[in-house]
Amino acid sequence: MKYKLIKTRGYARSGIMYINNYKIKTPAFMPVGTYGVIKTLTTEEIKKLGTQILLSNTFHIWLHPGNKIIKLHGDLHKYMNWNNPILTDSGGFQIFSLKTLNKIKEEGIYFKNPNNGNKIFLSPEKSINIQYFLNSDIAMVLDECVSYLTSWNYIKHSVSMSLRWAKRSLKQFIKIKNKNNLFGIIQGGNYKDLRYFSLKGLINMGFNNYAIGGLAVGEPKHTMYNILNYICPKIPENSIRYLMGIGKPEDIIESVRRGIDIFDCVIPTRHARNGHLFTSNGFINIKNSKYKNIIKPLDKYCDCYTCTNYTLSYLNNINVCNEILGVRLNTIHNIRYYKKLMLNIRNSIILNKFELFAYNFYKKIHKNIPKLNF
Ligand SMILES: [Zn+2]
Repeated sequence: MKYKLIKTRGYARSGIMYINNYKIKTPAFMPVGTYGVIKTLTTEEIKKLGTQILLSNTFHIWLHPGNKIIKLHGDLHKYMNWNNPILTDSGGFQIFSLKTLNKIKEEGIYFKNPNNGNKIFLSPEKSINIQYFLNSDIAMVLDECVSYLTSWNYIKHSVSMSLRWAKRSLKQFIKIKNKNNLFGIIQGGNYKDLRYFSLKGLINMGFNNYAIGGLAVGEPKHTMYNILNYICPKIPENSIRYLMGIGKPEDIIESVRRGIDIFDCVIPTRHARNGHLFTSNGFINIKNSKYKNIIKPLDKYCDCYTCTNYTLSYLNNINVCNEILGVRLNTIHNIRYYKKLMLNIRNSIILNKFELFAYNFYKKIHKNIPKLNF
């Protein structure tokens, strides 16, 4: 995998990520297909919305349908009928976020299967093996994701262990001759020295591309931006910088302003299922009765199937009575909104107009563009 930097504007960058014969234009956003499915959409539809790459969760797919079923199909691409690139996470984050954690030890993570309560064990090697069976184009190392409230001493201990896990992951990745790509994950909570310690350790092991984990886990926004301000310029220029689990459109713009290249998040799809939609004039709840009689498109600037074929009134009425079509139409719109957002960000960087784009974005949602406090 190679990353070609095309243009920078301040710290913001636009480039191309070459993965297994595919070109991913960055900054890019990956929708999340937890079980190998973007809920309510076919892969054909996801492609038509302009999705370049999507994320799938190793942990969930490991538990259901499991390795055997995936192997019967060949790999995850064939299982879900998706030829474009897939990034898989390592599984560690879900174990923490789903509170199924039993014990974390040097050898790996002992946890309870959330579906049946059975005890399971996930090691760095096992996570790499599962991601190999899935044949994900980008695999992630197993790491420990800790709460932002954790002490410096604990995080120091945790980052050291995550570095040893990263080393074991890389060793296993090479041993099984995986020809895809493996990213290291920078941890370290809100402590700059530990973030640097983590990055330095990964660079010394020979990782070429880096995810930033353990952010957007409840810490104040300015804390997250301070960490990005600090760590992004220290990541080698020719490496991909992937911010895990981010975020809302504002978070994406602010992170691009600090040098992030790729993102994943459940927000566009999860919000769609709750009737929360992103439009060029800001965020709306389509179930609000004020849309009941409005015979206009959801977003006149959007070219998606939903906006070109249905009215706000129709969307309001089918969402209020929880019709499945409502979720489908909402999901189509939100994914397209994110796709267009990334496209506009990319183009504005290339045309030296990124600040103007960000200024206009905030103006439309009646906010001032935040200052960059480097
Ligand atoms: Zn739309």
